[in-house]
Amino acid sequence: MSDNQSFFPSQPLLITVDGPAGAGKTSVSKILAQRLSYTYVDTGALYRGVAIGAKRAGIQADDDAGLAGFCKKLHLCFEQKADKTLLLMNGEDITSKIREPEISMLASAVSANPVVRKFLLNLQKKMGEKKETVFEGRDMGTVVFPDADIKFFLDASIETRAARRYEELKEQTCQSPADVKTDMKRRDTNDSTRDLAPLKPADDSILINSTHLSLEAVIEKIMECIKTAFG
Ligand code: C5P
Repeated sequence: MSDNQSFFPSQPLLITVDGPAGAGKTSVSKILAQRLSYTYVDTGALYRGVAIGAKRAGIQADDDAGLAGFCKKLHLCFEQKADKTLLLMNGEDITSKIREPEISMLASAVSANPVVRKFLLNLQKKMGEKKETVFEGRDMGTVVFPDADIKFFLDASIETRAARRYEELKEQTCQSPADVKTDMKRRDTNDSTRDLAPLKPADDSILINSTHLSLEAVIEKIMECIKTAFG
């Protein structure tokens, strides 16, 4: 066990972890939050929640007026139940439904809509008010929390990211490794070329390429950076 596991920063921090799908953001952010006794917020889950709701309501990703009306009545929140974090949509637990490949693509589509981004921007800002939180997403360091205390951008090669995602999904999906890679490339293109809040590192973010790093090695690097800045 390293010294980092018993480290507490000198002040409450708001930490952002951005990067493309499969870069390891979720595992890293969850462990980081655990080690610091911070809250972990998966902002991708919020976009997935909007995608599920819009799909059920028959609203297309480019229907601004439809999405505006839908978001007005939408209540999304996380609830901690034992060791699980649930995503509730208007009181319904949708946690088990948000990871389906179709919802990944739909989330990417609705996330390019300005109405959706504005709705979730406000919600995420509220969630960050008390600090002591690790926010994982695509635009946490660039748009939602430009003044975050410390920002990380995780990346890895497309081969590594697709292989990791396939391992995660293989129990729940009939997608082949090649399908997973194709979907991932499409999502990367959508997310990084959209006009609003495109996926990119903030100028002041710390870049970590995890292609050849274990999960523990990435955590160690991040903890060292936090220790150096806030020890
Ligand atoms: O992180 P995850 O893969 O669950 O995110 C699903 C989709 O939600 C992404 O492909 C992206 O289009 C969108 N997203 C976003 N901004 C965020 C988080 C996710 O646009 N902060």
